[in-house]
Amino acid sequence: MASFTLHGISVSRGIAIGRAHILMPAALDVKHYLVAEEQIETEVQRLQMAFLAVHQELQALRLDLPKDAPSELAAFIDVHALILSDPMLAEAPLDIIRSRYYNAEWALVTQVDELSAQFDEIEDAYLRERKSDIQQVAERVLKNLICSEQVSPQTCDKEQSHPHMIVVAHDISPADMLQFRDGSFSGFITDVGGQNSHTAIVARSLDIPAAVGMSNASALIKQEDWVIIDGDTGVVIVNPAPMILDHYHAQQAELLRAKKKLNKLKKTPALTLDGTPITLLANIELPDDCATVVEMGANGVGLFRSEFLFMGRGTGADKLPSEDEQFEAYRRAVLALKGRPLTIRTLDTGADKPLDMVEHTALNPALGLRAIRFCLSEPQLFLTQLRAILRASAYGPVKILIPMLSHAFEIEQSFSLIEQAKSQLRDVQIKFDPAIEVGAMIEIPAAALTLPLFVKKMDFLSIGTNDLIQYTLAIDRVDYEVAHLYSPLHPAILQLIASTIKAGAKKGIPVAICGEMAGDISLTRLLLGLGLREFSMHPAQLLSVKKEILNSDLHRIAPHTKKILRTMDSAVIADVMHQLSTL
Ligand code: PEP
Ligand code: MG
Repeated sequence: MASFTLHGISVSRGIAIGRAHILMPAALDVKHYLVAEEQIETEVQRLQMAFLAVHQELQALRLDLPKDAPSELAAFIDVHALILSDPMLAEAPLDIIRSRYYNAEWALVTQVDELSAQFDEIEDAYLRERKSDIQQVAERVLKNLICSEQVSPQTCDKEQSHPHMIVVAHDISPADMLQFRDGSFSGFITDVGGQNSHTAIVARSLDIPAAVGMSNASALIKQEDWVIIDGDTGVVIVNPAPMILDHYHAQQAELLRAKKKLNKLKKTPALTLDGTPITLLANIELPDDCATVVEMGANGVGLFRSEFLFMGRGTGADKLPSEDEQFEAYRRAVLALKGRPLTIRTLDTGADKPLDMVEHTALNPALGLRAIRFCLSEPQLFLTQLRAILRASAYGPVKILIPMLSHAFEIEQSFSLIEQAKSQLRDVQIKFDPAIEVGAMIEIPAAALTLPLFVKKMDFLSIGTNDLIQYTLAIDRVDYEVAHLYSPLHPAILQLIASTIKAGAKKGIPVAICGEMAGDISLTRLLLGLGLREFSMHPAQLLSVKKEILNSDLHRIAPHTKKILRTMDSAVIADVMHQLSTL
């Protein structure tokens, strides 16, 4: 097997070593889990039933064809029926379930991917085109599988049976990425994506090495190839020589030792060397994450990306979480935090986090009807969420955080809807915290340039540096072709962050950063120097940032950050950053 190296963008640090598991686009829409041994035959039957149902579907279609239907249509259905009963499609996946313990959907897409690859090699263009027929037939079976039964993932001990699989895909949506939280995989590689795309952020929250923007990795890497991801450099080594493998195994062991050492800091208060207390908050996607938040010793949750409750639920307005379902989720989170504050960001959908029920037609989704813009255009949906959040506030400290505000009227309308939600609850005598704090994300340059509007109204601010960088530098955060321009140290970004922190301090309003900059240890001292006292990041990053804080002296940092704010010269900025790292 030939060894080769690919270069991409690192999104999550560490080293992963394992066998490649290639996911083709169709595979991304289905659940991937391993079935327990005693469930194998049930799973086999589930797939057989789905095949049978599609067979009947096709028969009915054939019978119901109108008399004047073009003759190709009947031939088309016949071809599909033939494909459906071909053992390569109907039987091979059953073997995959039995031998690899894959769930039915996963087994089917694995086989389809294999067949598709074989078709790609065929010279005859007509035959090559039949690949799409196979995919369409498989899609019908998949639909049937998914609709017929809602099975919960019956998993066996993944760590033991498939310890080191690395997912390789063209792209993975943020919602799909969430499916991988159960620890079945030890790393991710995708062809597309930028460092701060939501998919990358979720990958980072899983605390396993990942590299994105690898161009055509999913075509070059083959199923079961050995792969090393060097998450520090974004380098992927395929089928490495034994010596290289040894080297990375040693590094992996070293990282593990360092991580164990960090764990000792869980209960240590986050104080700088000069005694300044720093608040360390966590970013979460789902209520279950709160257990890790507490375990890592965070002071609370600074960003609950509530949109993950709304994603991957299928089409139709009835598929959205109801007020009660949301309330239960928020209450579960606040109770799990045992008195620590829970900052719930209201639905931030759109761009790379679409809802299944909304047809997104925006030419440029990042600039479209996203986040609060969408919520204000769907007041009933927004009110439902606000009531659910308010109800949860009766069970512990909850704050509301509103994303993507830029206009004064958006602030006004948001507050008026919050008041409306409160009065609806009062009418039915449901308890909530009447003094619930409301904050704004500062993530659009327009907001950072009109801070008086925000500090006048808000109880707190949270800087969303991921979007602030995207919108200030005019680069799509999910587009790997401009990923090299994604620069947190651009003087414009530093100025906007510094002025936001300053405006908050002047008014006595807490300001946090909840974008990815907060969890980047190479930036911790700089942010402390800019006056930041609240950091919100993935729980996995918390202890390394704490270690950096424990080793930082604000008096020594101050002159350097003053210098950085006075220059527009990237060489000077780089020089100061180097000096900060050696303090
Ligand atoms: C941000 O933009 O920095 C942020 C925290 O929000 P999100 O990444 O979810 O857009
Ligand atoms: Mg954002």
